[in-house]
Amino acid sequence: MSDRAENTRTEWLTTLAKFKDDPDQAANSAMWSPRLDGASRDELTAIQNEKLAVVTPFLYENSLFYRQRFDRLGLAPTDISSVEDLVKWPVVDKSEMTLDGESHPPFGHYTTMSDEIWRSRGWMLFSTSGTTGTPRIFRYSQIDRDYWAWANARAMHAMDFVASDTVFMMTGYGTHVWAWGVQMGLAKMGIGLIPGGGMDGAMRAGIVARFQPTVLCCTPSYALYLGRVMQDMGLDPAATSVRLLFCGGEPAMAIGPTRKKLEDLWGARLVEFYGCTEAAPQAGGYACAATGQDKDGYFLHLMEDIQIWETVDPENLQPTAPGQRGLSVCTNLVSESSPQLRFLVGDFTTLNQDACACGRNHVRAMGCFAGRADDLINLRGVKFFPTQIEKAVRAIPGLGDEFQMILSSRKADGMDVMKVVVEHPEHGPGSKLVEQVGDAIRAEIELRVDIEVVAPDSLPKTEFKAKRVTDQRAKH
Ligand SMILES: [Zn+2]
Repeated sequence: MSDRAENTRTEWLTTLAKFKDDPDQAANSAMWSPRLDGASRDELTAIQNEKLAVVTPFLYENSLFYRQRFDRLGLAPTDISSVEDLVKWPVVDKSEMTLDGESHPPFGHYTTMSDEIWRSRGWMLFSTSGTTGTPRIFRYSQIDRDYWAWANARAMHAMDFVASDTVFMMTGYGTHVWAWGVQMGLAKMGIGLIPGGGMDGAMRAGIVARFQPTVLCCTPSYALYLGRVMQDMGLDPAATSVRLLFCGGEPAMAIGPTRKKLEDLWGARLVEFYGCTEAAPQAGGYACAATGQDKDGYFLHLMEDIQIWETVDPENLQPTAPGQRGLSVCTNLVSESSPQLRFLVGDFTTLNQDACACGRNHVRAMGCFAGRADDLINLRGVKFFPTQIEKAVRAIPGLGDEFQMILSSRKADGMDVMKVVVEHPEHGPGSKLVEQVGDAIRAEIELRVDIEVVAPDSLPKTEFKAKRVTDQRAKH
């Protein structure tokens, strides 16, 4: 390794360490790291600028992907040394990262770690889910994982996790970042943990009844599934010890009827993280005590001393004006092996820099994140998210938990159409639900779609992650 590569790495890690306040335990009950969690907007910008000025030389000297991109753009690392400079660097999208991985398998050139460093330190492999393409592979160093544990502890502290909690993690423990990041954070917080991989619903229901966890970690689909399993066993989920549903993997907080269904079923509060594999699994976004409590509705904070969040216009990828909806972009300032400069995460939201009732000034994603640009459905020019259909369907009392959306091209005229299949005891073509569901969906997406009402328990039951959209269109 060259001296410059080594020196810039040392400077980067020294700067990160300078801002790791309260590394091992919470300073008080309100905030884990009060200087950072309670920082003013100016203080947050100053921290971001100090970190940015050090990270760009580190990237240039240690990552071929970044060096080549800087050179191609005619930029020197010193050209991007403050938040204001970031706009000079065009956003990096998933296709660019995929190309890097495929051109230099298996790990790509983007990482800042040499083989020598990887071999001499601990690391762990993670991957994206691959729902929108080939899974992309990432290795994270032990230093990174220490930062995740700390950042996640800060976020879970804000979400009201306390030392006396017992957390039941119902995840597969695969290469997904969320579960491992949460687990590391919980260990740092000294919170009791029950690993719940490799069990069926009845076994997990038995654990809830027997060991009385106060927090469930799972996908929202699984929280619904397990609640129904318990009801079938004659147990009432709302009467259990569970007080928090910590959900990930699918949006839930942002979809009012889904959130209400889960919170009513379990008699518990729903909380979420937001993040992505590329910019490390620490909570970029997290719920605080004030979310859902007043006129601001539901939102997530974004931890700005460790990441810089922006939104960009989906068409031209230029920054959106303050208060305008756009796609999320993350610059990650807390990673040794995977720093990201303006990575296009790609979820729609609206950022708000106003102070929050919880005492934090970290920017908020208003309405949370209810749709990734990749999930957007275009039906005859009308664009909508599957979550909008979910919102409409789940607001109608009496429908089953499951529903399906089938997109196809009509044989007669080739026109693209969508059918939504729902479950109700009054099923069949003459069901009054046909019109009711159709009206609710039209009110949400301004499009009339076909509705089919089938008998309860006809549709396949979702356990972990819902797959509700089937696209059979000819030109897709
Ligand atoms: Zn807050």
